[in-house]
Amino acid sequence: MKRIKIAIVGLGKIARDQHVPTIAANDAFELVGVASPHSKLEGVPSYRSIEELLQAVPDVSAVALCTTPQVRYEAARHALLQGRHVLLEKPPAATVSEALALVEIASLKSVALFASWHSRHARAVEPARAWLADHEIQRVTVTWKEDVRVWHPGQTWIWKAGGLGVFDPGINALSILTRIIPGTLTLKDAELDYPANCETPIAARLLLADSQGAPASVELDFLQTGPQSWDIDIETAAGQLLLSMGGTVLKINGSLVATPPETEYSNLYAHFATLVRARKIDVDFDPFQLVTDALQFGRRVNVGRFDE
Ligand code: NAP
Repeated sequence: MKRIKIAIVGLGKIARDQHVPTIAANDAFELVGVASPHSKLEGVPSYRSIEELLQAVPDVSAVALCTTPQVRYEAARHALLQGRHVLLEKPPAATVSEALALVEIASLKSVALFASWHSRHARAVEPARAWLADHEIQRVTVTWKEDVRVWHPGQTWIWKAGGLGVFDPGINALSILTRIIPGTLTLKDAELDYPANCETPIAARLLLADSQGAPASVELDFLQTGPQSWDIDIETAAGQLLLSMGGTVLKINGSLVATPPETEYSNLYAHFATLVRARKIDVDFDPFQLVTDALQFGRRVNVGRFDE
């Protein structure tokens, strides 16, 4: 089968840490270009914008959009209108209306569009989903607390409108939760802490409910020092399911459950290859909708400045 000629748009931390090595390790793809305003990838033709890239390398058939969220829509729209398949890093756009518009364009152009949620491909997520399908959920507690200074140094875009603040990691928890819990989660309450000098929140406390009315409390914090927490704790009628380390470790009633060895991004790209070959659209905006609901509905608490 012919390899899919792919380009990366936005050569930042996640592109270098995950997309470049994952594409190199997957025979279905060939990395033929990069577009990024200031960054270049050694050995790969690099351009400053997606417009320049698609003009210079016309046989690019797919693009992976790893930019900051604020500029993702314009780049995705351009690629789709030019008939290219598109993989969107999370979040899929800056607003839900932008994300929906991309689906319409992809559909009109009959190209693949994948709104990816990398945490959903963590190895313990599908086993957790399968177990929960057969057990009544009583209560959910999500604790997602990390140190922004460690994981996002210098990423000022996170603090600007559209950058999501603490929801940049928090949306990973919501992407897992919306995958493993049957039915639809709705937002009931939200309180968001905004530093005096930031446009996005640094901490958030949400209350959600599942379709059966079971409560799910979500605590997000970007100032966690010491041990970091990426945990989802679910009480069911048959006992406790604990998904920890960002969806990679699963314990049921205290016993470790064996999980497959695959890694997040190799699964994600394997799925994208399938979508490209079939020219299919795979989007689920539920995690993003919950975040935008929280930003719209949540009470604002003003807190002190954040200085990196
Ligand atoms: P980052 O290190 O700040 O990289 C963002 C990159 O976007 C920058 O390198 C910048 O390129 C590029 N960019 C900005 N405007 C652009 C434009 N108009 N066209 C093309 N490229 C443009 O951020 P990141 O951590 O990689 O995060 C990027 C996205 O991936 C975010 O949505 C984030 O939520 C998601 N993500 C991040 C992680 C993580 O662990 N960091 C994990 C999963 C997903 P220049 O360097 O050339 O200026």
